[in-house]
Amino acid sequence: MIVVTDLPSIDEALARVLEHVRPLPDEEVAVADAAGRVLAAAAVARVDLPPFASSAMDGYAVRAADTPGALVVAGHSAAGHPSDATLAAGQAIAISTGAVVPDGADAVVPVERTRVAGAAVVVEHVRPGENVRPRGGDIAAGDAVLPAGAECGPAQLGALAAAGLETVRCARRPRVAVLATGSELRRPGEPLGPGEIYESNTVMLAAQLRRAGADAVVHDAVADDADAMRAALEHGLEADVLLTSGGVSVGEHDLVRGLLAELGAAEVFWRVAVKPGKPVAFSTRGSTLVFGLPGNPVSSFVGFELFVRPALAALQGAVDPRPVFLPGRLEVSLQRNAARDELVRARIGDGGLAMPLRGQESHMIARAAHANALVLVPRGDGELAAGSSVSWLPI
Ligand code: AMP
Ligand code: MG
Repeated sequence: MIVVTDLPSIDEALARVLEHVRPLPDEEVAVADAAGRVLAAAAVARVDLPPFASSAMDGYAVRAADTPGALVVAGHSAAGHPSDATLAAGQAIAISTGAVVPDGADAVVPVERTRVAGAAVVVEHVRPGENVRPRGGDIAAGDAVLPAGAECGPAQLGALAAAGLETVRCARRPRVAVLATGSELRRPGEPLGPGEIYESNTVMLAAQLRRAGADAVVHDAVADDADAMRAALEHGLEADVLLTSGGVSVGEHDLVRGLLAELGAAEVFWRVAVKPGKPVAFSTRGSTLVFGLPGNPVSSFVGFELFVRPALAALQGAVDPRPVFLPGRLEVSLQRNAARDELVRARIGDGGLAMPLRGQESHMIARAAHANALVLVPRGDGELAAGSSVSWLPI
């Protein structure tokens, strides 16, 4: 069977989103607050790291040429309390990890390889440089700790602080308005009337947004009523990014796209060859990016991961904002979708073996809540056999 589809592929749609992203202006951010942020400029080391030649061990600072031998203990260098003595031939200075290696010493004998004998210490052989961390051995003052575009995770923050940086320049956080649409939606805690369901997309999207470094403002959900929705959309369009959920399909109550057009948003695409999430819409008004996510919770979730998260990364100046898929293998065979690439909710086990979850329909958020991966099953005919190589997105 040959299926002709003129819908953009995931990659084509994402490329079109990224074409419309202009990085946000940057601001000074305390390193302590920079987790998850992206550097707008290279962060330059203020000091050599280590800032002085320091000991990697507790032991004795010596001249390697004097070892092995019995040496006179001429002082003590502790972390934060350097010895003011200069090491002369035949001497040792007791030293602790992280303390300054005194002038004249070129090695440290670990305490385990020494023995105290009265006023002397008997040390085993060491090579020059052994157990000495040279000044600037990690990074030199003036060198870039991290380049522009680097994302600050825990290790990056540690490196920035170690190199003496108090603040860094980062793109400001994208301000994102989130608006659920649908007359059937009630807040958790409220009683459900006939035909009503709990509104669950905004709490999910807000959590996805936080992880993506954005500031989310969740608006009250609006009914499928043109006036109420127009007013809510107008407000949401003031943000850097507006995420709507629901109302982008072909039903007569699906008002979002028409109202966005009325409000001056230019549609870039509507519908993508992806399952779930086909009805996703993307438009722009001025510098505001608008994602119309389908209301089915799993569609909203997947649409966010495929298109919104990369856009937020690009707004923050990430070098490569695209989702990073990892290699794995299918544990069981899977039927392919002829027309659409599918993101299958799965659990990844040992060695990247992907086990699809039971219950793959796009309303099944409770099933999807057990997934730790979206496995990409490219469109095509027939089955993907068990053991096939696949790529998957951690979630
Ligand atoms: P729609 O995209 O508006 O056609 O909605 C598709 C399905 O998703 C319908 O079953 C809706 O009831 C459901 N839905 C829409 N919005 C939400 C929401 N915010 N939370 C949970 N389910 C929703
Ligand atoms: Mg709806």
